[in-house]
Amino acid sequence: MRGLTTAELLDIWERGLCQEPAARALSLLAAAYPEMSPRHLAALSIGQRDARLVALREALFGSDVEALVPCPQCGERLELNFSTADLLATPELEPETEVTLSVAGYHLRLRTPNSQDLLEAGNQSDLAQSRRQILRRCLLSVNRGDAPAELANLSAEIGEAVAQKLAEIDPLANIQMNISCSVCKHAWQAVFDIVSFFWTELEAWAGRMLQEVHALASAYGWSEQEILALSPMRRQVYLEMLGA
Ligand SMILES: [Zn+2]
Repeated sequence: MRGLTTAELLDIWERGLCQEPAARALSLLAAAYPEMSPRHLAALSIGQRDARLVALREALFGSDVEALVPCPQCGERLELNFSTADLLATPELEPETEVTLSVAGYHLRLRTPNSQDLLEAGNQSDLAQSRRQILRRCLLSVNRGDAPAELANLSAEIGEAVAQKLAEIDPLANIQMNISCSVCKHAWQAVFDIVSFFWTELEAWAGRMLQEVHALASAYGWSEQEILALSPMRRQVYLEMLGA
């Protein structure tokens, strides 16, 4: 993984304004892992993708993670503090992991979902339909007894078993956090979505960066390119001289 310059990161943020989350994740990874082809990146399992996003987030914004989560019971906004290492506590998978699953008399061969699956399913307006499409794309073969079979419709039982198996084999794709409310004592599990979390941070960062550019350009007449090429430390020192 390589570090990203301020200008590169701003470009990614700007391009991402009209992108789906799955495409935003890929453009962050494409910049940080130039040695990997776009096709290879899109074929990483979601857990592998998320492990890389967590590593990139750590490189850019540090290892402390602070998230605000509303309690579903009393509405209190709870502040959660953890580290990027806590998110990566489960082992990463080898690429293209395949597993078999027997359910309702069928014998299924499955692979883990990847970014390509999310991108193709992202065009569906219906969330349940997207989810079914992703599961279907991850079904490599279906047998009933010894003979190949067709699964015209995924029954709820099969869909549930497939989703559960995929979550098991790619645990980083589904990071669950145990949360308990300090006010009403309600306890629940929430999924930590690194893509949306990282993107929200990136948006706030981009807003601050553009403000800094504005302040320095107004005061010194430097171009955006010149200001972004300064180290964060020097930018900060100039901003302090301006009393910003
Ligand atoms: Zn509560």
